Amino acid sequence: MSENTSQDPILTPRLFTPGPTPIPKNVALAQMDSSVYHRTEDFFKIFRQTAALLSPIMGTKEIPIILTTSGTGAMEAAMQNLTATGDSVLTMVGGEFGERWDKMARAYGCQVKTLKVAHGQAFTLEDLDKALTDNKDIKVVFLQANETSTGVFYPIKDYCAAIRRLAPEALIVVDAISALGAHEIQMDAWGIDCVLGGSQKGFGIPPGLAFVALSKRAWLSLSNRERFYFDLTYEAKEQKTGSTAWTPAISLIYGLNVALKTMHERGLPQIIAQHKRQAMAVRAGVMAMGLELLSKDNASHALTAIKIPRSVGAKRVAGILKDRYQVTYARGQGVLAEDVIRFGHLGFVDRFDILAGLAALEFALHDAGHKLTLGQGLGAAMKILAS
Ligand SMILES: *Cc1c(COP(=O)(O)O)cnc(C)c1O
Repeated sequence: MSENTSQDPILTPRLFTPGPTPIPKNVALAQMDSSVYHRTEDFFKIFRQTAALLSPIMGTKEIPIILTTSGTGAMEAAMQNLTATGDSVLTMVGGEFGERWDKMARAYGCQVKTLKVAHGQAFTLEDLDKALTDNKDIKVVFLQANETSTGVFYPIKDYCAAIRRLAPEALIVVDAISALGAHEIQMDAWGIDCVLGGSQKGFGIPPGLAFVALSKRAWLSLSNRERFYFDLTYEAKEQKTGSTAWTPAISLIYGLNVALKTMHERGLPQIIAQHKRQAMAVRAGVMAMGLELLSKDNASHALTAIKIPRSVGAKRVAGILKDRYQVTYARGQGVLAEDVIRFGHLGFVDRFDILAGLAALEFALHDAGHKLTLGQGLGAAMKILAS
């Protein structure tokens, strides 16, 4: 059976990756109408308003810094500004993005202690307690809110409480890049010192902007490491006025401004509740198709990592989805490449999108020879999505 011959010529391409996410029409239009010079009061006004609209999504009263870079650039900005060579840091690694913290901290000459957990699981408080008790000199803890490679949302409120109790001086840096807009993140209330976000995840705009919010404590603890493009002190001084140190991705700022206004109109609690319900529907649908989830507890609202039996083939299913149905799922990363596909349902995704994504998966599994009765997954999901 050839797997890419029967493509329907009028299929609409559909994106179900945990970044980039679908871009709403009003956001796309706002980005097109942006032949603006960034050293003008018109732009400063939009920029300041955009940064202020971001704060509540990040759970803080602080005004975040908006950087023109991808999410990893925000991670690097945090690493450069909050650590010095030789500092002891703790990295919490449960997948590819945790690994990124670990590699980056090593590249920057930190003394790295690594706390690992199996893919699909969350760190236990006992393990975190032990890591902090065994390493009294930790200056910064780096973790994710949502490990995008495994679809796990960590109970970071509990982790922060443990870190505050056992290492009161340590800074807590949370990469919430795939969590913002899908999960509640209370930077101020939970005692987080640095929260990171990225444009192409929950905000429904293209890649190119990343966000760094720092606590007052973090601003007072900046390291004396040499840095240039990501010098947050310089950037903050400029951004107070609505200017930026370097040329910003102007069109994306206009898109972000509109996306954030839409999010505030809808209400953050409502958006999070919708993500939660849609994630539940995806999990129910997938399980009703006879598949297993990588993460049984602590499942993310932003994406679902789905195990595909080797006999069916994760790569094969992802290939059929794309080639025959124009549906893009994310493949598994690293060691999970052969076993997992990831259904991203983050950002401006509604319940009919969820059903389209599940229907395509059901078709693709059926085509790949996985035994199921068409509709069994969709039916289970629809029961959860029925209002
Ligand atoms: C997407 C993502 C990033 C950033 O990746 P970029 O490709 O640099 O934008 C970082 N952390 C997490 C958890 C992510 O999901």
